[in-house]
Amino acid sequence: MSDGSEITGAGPSPVRVALALEVLGDLAVVQRSLAGLTTYRLGGPAAVFVEARTVNDLRLIAEARRVSGLEVLVVGRGSNLLVDDLGFPGIAVRLAEGFEQISADTTPRLTAPSSPGSTVLRVGAAVALPVLARRSAAMGLTGMEWAVGVPGSVGGAVRMNAGGHGSDMAETLVSAEIFNLETGEVSERERSALGLRFRGSDLRDTDVVISAAVELEPGSVEDSTAKISEIVQWRREHQPGGHNCGSVFVNPIPGELSAGELIDQCGLRGTRIGGAVVSLKHANFIQAEESATAADVRALIEHVREVVLAATGIALRSEVRIVGAGDLA
Ligand SMILES: Cc1cc2nc3c(=O)[nH]c(=O)nc-3n(C[C@H](O)[C@H](O)[C@H](O)COP(=O)(O)OP(=O)(O)OC[C@H]3O[C@@H](n4cnc5c(N)ncnc54)[C@H](O)[C@@H]3O)c2cc1C
Repeated sequence: MSDGSEITGAGPSPVRVALALEVLGDLAVVQRSLAGLTTYRLGGPAAVFVEARTVNDLRLIAEARRVSGLEVLVVGRGSNLLVDDLGFPGIAVRLAEGFEQISADTTPRLTAPSSPGSTVLRVGAAVALPVLARRSAAMGLTGMEWAVGVPGSVGGAVRMNAGGHGSDMAETLVSAEIFNLETGEVSERERSALGLRFRGSDLRDTDVVISAAVELEPGSVEDSTAKISEIVQWRREHQPGGHNCGSVFVNPIPGELSAGELIDQCGLRGTRIGGAVVSLKHANFIQAEESATAADVRALIEHVREVVLAATGIALRSEVRIVGAGDLA
């Protein structure tokens, strides 16, 4: 059964790849390993890889997609991706320099900021969430402290509606600037048009978030810094280090019933398949050891899901985006 979190495709067709390369020229790298771009550090290469620095680069990618028929995968900081051992048979795109700014937002808006003293920041999609958390705190703004422990990019965080410590992107997001790979056009979409929900959104693979506008309240640098230290400390105490992608399964009833509790009740902590292990420290984390393959992690995700379903009747939904492989059983 697919839970909609996979991106699939046949092996890279040399003809399609050649068509894409004709458009992309020097921008493209062929057969670039994606493992190092993910926190799992696993998986094979992208048939074509592009680092996009400008909207013009994205326009070329849109054109390459059109002429080749290859799928496009946007890779943020790879903290929610499990790339198949055989890789991704399409065009993988990572946003680079041109998408790393944080500045005051100057977009003309129909709606005034919801509170008179607030500040709206325009944040590039490639900015790392911990950087946004620390930079906004240092500016005397409060509202993004929770993000210090989430190792994703702003673009990935909008798409996933990342969150933690009682908050999420939806709390402060005013709008997001989206590049549409089908039309090659950029548009600003208000929060209400993004379909943000618990750890998900209505954004599709053809919607590339290029920046986000977040509205933050005036705060105290001291208080925000203290909150950030507390969160960092909490994460160290409660979550494992090493190679993982954070929580594997979405909590079935946010705030009431956690996936970790269910996995724990089923006695699955420490369960291993090959080099993949259910963390002893946090049952909703699956760790990849040195010898792990993406297939090990995937098999363990499926195993955990099956055991929990058989024992509780609850079908856990994987939060992890599985790239380049078939449906999850
Ligand atoms: C140790 C650890 C702790 C974590 N803790 C949390 C937590 O507390 N809360 C939480 O919500 N998550 C958590 N995560 C998961 C992860 O950090 C979030 O889901 C994050 O939002 C993913 O961002 P990313 O840039 O890494 O996206 P990626 O993993 O690179 O991609 C995830 C999805 O977003 C898409 N995407 C990426 N960038 C863009 C873009 N610019 N435009 C459009 N689509 C894009 C990708 O195509 C993919 O579908 C944790 C992960 C780790 C490793």
